[in-house]
Amino acid sequence: MDPSFAFAAPNPLGVLRKMLLRRASSADQPPYDSPGMNRPKVVIVGGGFGGLTCANELDGCSVDVLLLDSNNYHLFTPLLYQVATALLNPSDIAYPLRSRFRRSRNVRFRQARVEEMDFAAKTVRTENGDAIGYDWLVLATGSTNNYFGNQKLADAAIGMKTLPEALRLRNHVLACLEQASKTSSDADRRRWLTFVVVGGGPTGVEYAGALGELLRIVVGRDYPDLRPEVARIVLLEARDRLLPEFAERLSRYARRALRRRGVEVRTQTLMEDITDRGVRVTGGEEVETATIVWSAGVRAEDATVSVEVTRSPSKRVIVDEQFRIKDCPGAFAIGDLASVRWTRSELPMLSPPAMQAGRYVARLILGESPPRFATSTRGPSLPLAATLPSAGRTTPVHRLHRLGCLAPCAHLLPDRVSQPTCRPDVVGMELLASRSTDPNRRAR
Ligand SMILES: Cc1cc2nc3c(=O)[nH]c(=O)nc-3n(C[C@H](O)[C@H](O)[C@H](O)COP(=O)(O)OP(=O)(O)OC[C@H]3O[C@@H](n4cnc5c(N)ncnc54)[C@H](O)[C@@H]3O)c2cc1C
Repeated sequence: MDPSFAFAAPNPLGVLRKMLLRRASSADQPPYDSPGMNRPKVVIVGGGFGGLTCANELDGCSVDVLLLDSNNYHLFTPLLYQVATALLNPSDIAYPLRSRFRRSRNVRFRQARVEEMDFAAKTVRTENGDAIGYDWLVLATGSTNNYFGNQKLADAAIGMKTLPEALRLRNHVLACLEQASKTSSDADRRRWLTFVVVGGGPTGVEYAGALGELLRIVVGRDYPDLRPEVARIVLLEARDRLLPEFAERLSRYARRALRRRGVEVRTQTLMEDITDRGVRVTGGEEVETATIVWSAGVRAEDATVSVEVTRSPSKRVIVDEQFRIKDCPGAFAIGDLASVRWTRSELPMLSPPAMQAGRYVARLILGESPPRFATSTRGPSLPLAATLPSAGRTTPVHRLHRLGCLAPCAHLLPDRVSQPTCRPDVVGMELLASRSTDPNRRAR
């Protein structure tokens, strides 16, 4: 089918129509690949921020959408560190994709890992060999840990990109506390209670701060045999300041806040080697530890590994300003996977640009001619700001707004929010909030 299809122009009653369609039962919706369907077929690979936003935008429109993801949930990564420090449960940040589209007439979800693309034949192949055809393809597979080919590092460190990794980290930290309380050797106890976090970007800063908070709460209280002053968190950053992508005042703020939580911040310090009992850092010092948390590098997820697409040095797929993959008709890449030239660099790997691109591409698929893509960096605060009140928390939303891109580190604020008591409707709230700051949104 030719993707240059004629679509119904958006009409002012679109929102109402969508709401009515969503209310209808999907029981009579034919499966995505049933014969005889003549609407354009859209395959979205990845139900993260970009892919889910795109599917949401296409929900209720005259296209048949199949959303594929290797997991059956959307993960709200900004709060992953809370799961990794046992302050939230996994179900608080993982939203089931099937429930989201249960009532949709045109969007279907299938749990499947995509392993191969054939851009010429317009098919994607899943791990169990299914070939799924499309007229339009949106690749939104995000990013993964980058250990720069160092297998020793990959084996020794724990990343924080996925829910299983966050759970592994949480269990590991709790096991370290148990081991520390059991051992009779002071050196071993110090080692069990030393946590090295590599990478002073947002993830490392968030995690180190939350871990400091966790240790403050449990060491000495739940573990009366352990003295709080023995616990040590060392945050290593290769550059000369924390959060190097953000304004300097925010770096200074984060450093002060972490110090207050007892985190030892070491800038211009590299983890140079992994030793038998810990890590060796710049200057030759050996830090004895049983825990290395890796947050020092990500690279694009390689769903298109078998295909010759052009990639940037960070392995992101190079696309044009409309997110089209060169020489692959009908195929887009968005979010962390895509490399779009932006000012003097690339669009940042953050959720707002991913969501904004998802919405933008949906408009292109629907035959609209949106103006040139624009992004707003105010967004990162909004998903979180929207989530917190619904979780019964108390951090004032305006403070999160003021922090802008640093809002994810809101737990470092002095009036730190208390633990949520109910499950936040993260997906609904985040999408609602993100729409209002999206410069590409359709005028309604
Ligand atoms: C710990 C952490 C904290 C973060 N905090 C913030 C923050 O506070 N603010 C902010 O703006 N950004 C934050 N980010 C970055 C943000 O999460 C990403 O920029 C955003 O998720 C990118 O969206 P995406 O749609 O490209 O990918 P993702 O949201 O990562 O979604 C990718 C999806 O693709 C699926 N997938 C991958 N490969 C395949 C395959 N082969 N087949 C099928 N499915 C596949 C995955 O399961 C996943 O669901 C954080 C990231 C991390 C890891």
